[in-house]
Amino acid sequence: MLLLKNACILQFQPAAVKNGMDILIDGPRIVDVGKNIIVDRKDTRTVDLEGKLVSPGLVCGHNHFYSVLARGILAEIKPSTDFVSILQNLWWKLDRAIDEEILLYSGLIGAIEALRSGTTSVIDHHASPSFIKGSLKVLKSAFEKAGLRGILCYEVTDRNGNRGMSDGIDENISFAETIERERKSGLTDNLIEAAVGAHAPFTLGEEALGMLAEAVNKTGRGLHIHLAEDLYDPSYSSHIHRKDLTERLEDCGLLNEKTICAHGVHLTDSDIEKLNRHDSFLVHNARSNMNNGVGYAEKLPSFRNVALGTDGIGSDMFEEMKFAFFKHRDSGGEYWPSDFLDFLHSGNSLLERYFNMSFGKIEKNYKADLVIYDYQSPTPLVGENIAGHIAFGLSSRDVKTVIVNGVTVYENRQFPFDIEPVYEEASRAARRLWQRMDEIK
Ligand SMILES: [Zn+2]
Repeated sequence: MLLLKNACILQFQPAAVKNGMDILIDGPRIVDVGKNIIVDRKDTRTVDLEGKLVSPGLVCGHNHFYSVLARGILAEIKPSTDFVSILQNLWWKLDRAIDEEILLYSGLIGAIEALRSGTTSVIDHHASPSFIKGSLKVLKSAFEKAGLRGILCYEVTDRNGNRGMSDGIDENISFAETIERERKSGLTDNLIEAAVGAHAPFTLGEEALGMLAEAVNKTGRGLHIHLAEDLYDPSYSSHIHRKDLTERLEDCGLLNEKTICAHGVHLTDSDIEKLNRHDSFLVHNARSNMNNGVGYAEKLPSFRNVALGTDGIGSDMFEEMKFAFFKHRDSGGEYWPSDFLDFLHSGNSLLERYFNMSFGKIEKNYKADLVIYDYQSPTPLVGENIAGHIAFGLSSRDVKTVIVNGVTVYENRQFPFDIEPVYEEASRAARRLWQRMDEIK
């Protein structure tokens, strides 16, 4: 057991600050929270937090660890003036150049950097067309090595031919079956769950959508897809398929409470009504939308469920929340930091829908995914201003210790394994990745 004494608990929803609290963790769960908890079991490790802040772990609702080694990329990339050419000249060359080793180091660095930022769960959307079969197991091993929680999927698309499409479907199904097998063999507290991934409607024909629907039914998981990121997606849908984006998905039975739609910048009111009716999720990726110049998701307040993601720009959810808030203000929006803290907190609902357990609070029977901070506040910190502290102060630099599934995976800013060799190998893998990209025609 782990007993954290004298914590100052930050609760995001409803926002509250509770001083002088003890937190008792047994295995992957919080089993008690209160004042002066006394435990007489000999296997209990007691840590006095001396009033330090403790919050639930942060959730990144949409990410791409396969792009981790693209940072500072030095490869020949043609000038890209619009969204589709950015995909063609950069991301669709990069994903084709990924092999097993490159993926492993992308995943390890992604996981290490997420935990360092206080992000305890990452919902990943993976693509590696030259290494599809078995790719999600490699990514899973990277998450597990670092101790990061995740929901993984493979991005199905028609852009690599019919074989590439069906291999992507198979990878999603076989990975979900692996998770089921682990569960049936008694591993009920696993770190990893599965979703069914798809690129975006404009690279998915009717056959692919039908097979995705079968995969969703067969696995009991939800679709994780890019939707209306750029105006090209809804225009293509109307022009080629004579249907709105969500109409296509709904007609195939692909909208449900586990559906994760990333971006949604150009969804119409009727699209949003459909997503809300099916209780589906929108994941807002403010920095990525700005980086790609795809426009601003002005209709954020109309969605029933909104979480925040990074779309491959690291996993620092403090930074993402700040950008999301500032961009909203810049566009004339009326939301306050507390609304964006609600969005950040909503990622926990996604975890609950996939893991079928309780996440996002420091209370009895919740999962023990926690972050301990070294934050020295110059002003009073109370429930009413937590979001203001995050928008204008508290950040990932204050993260000191991280606990996931009851395991201390990062303590006093140190990992329990040597990360230097991982960074060295990652750097070598990055050079190889960039070279391989130049060789792709
Ligand atoms: Zn994305």
